[in-house]
Amino acid sequence: MNAKELITQARAHHRMALDEQAGKSLLAEYGITVPQSLTVKYTGEVDAAFTKLRPPVVVKIMSPDILHKSDAGGVKVGLKSAAEVKDAINAMAASPQIKAARIDGYLIEEMAPAGQEIVIGGLRDPYFGPLVMVGLGGIFVEVLRDVSFRICPITRIDAEEMIDELKGAAVLDGARGRKPASRSAIVDALLKVGGDNGLMMTHVDDISEADINPMIVSENGAVAVDARFILKSVNG
Ligand code: ADP
Ligand code: MG
Repeated sequence: MNAKELITQARAHHRMALDEQAGKSLLAEYGITVPQSLTVKYTGEVDAAFTKLRPPVVVKIMSPDILHKSDAGGVKVGLKSAAEVKDAINAMAASPQIKAARIDGYLIEEMAPAGQEIVIGGLRDPYFGPLVMVGLGGIFVEVLRDVSFRICPITRIDAEEMIDELKGAAVLDGARGRKPASRSAIVDALLKVGGDNGLMMTHVDDISEADINPMIVSENGAVAVDARFILKSVNG
């Protein structure tokens, strides 16, 4: 399914957001790298799915009722066998918060290469239209609010400047034994979200908010490991 179809389908199901798998298909359509993944409904489907992926893998709960999967006990990383995947799913299914939720299934995906976590977002300002945002992951965004914004569409130079404006930008160059993160991969991803033919400009009537949190950036590239898109309501 292409982006338009995914959005139409979500609306037909009265969903205000795309599920993580649909969100990642949309990102992939714009050339943003996402992990190889499959979804299962039951542990009985795990063996077949597992053979199609390169371990270690991650399992995540898919539910329209759960926004922060980790907080709900709905993310387990570093699983090396189908048995570990099944155990993780059984443990999730037994957690109180997940029991109370509607469950679409479980996403099983490959681990991204190690790197630094950043956040890329898109939102709509009532006056300026689509905006694009970048920040460094973890405490940089959540506690320090170290983020920068631009009005879409952005150019390559805008994207470079957005990164330079971050107070923690030097972290990306590698500090305290960390490997540097590819700046050009971040610039590319920002253009794919906020550039002229990027997804915020293209889906200006459909998407009110985009959130890639995190994108894991290694020396060689960037992988969007979480994706959330809030749809614009049809009449507003
Ligand atoms: P949520 O934000 O809903 O809690 P995420 O999908 O962002 O769930 O997963 C939580 C964390 O697990 C991520 O911030 C990241 O550190 C790690 N993670 C998730 N998916 C992957 C992946 N495919 N490869 C490597 N790490 C991952
Ligand atoms: Mg996340």
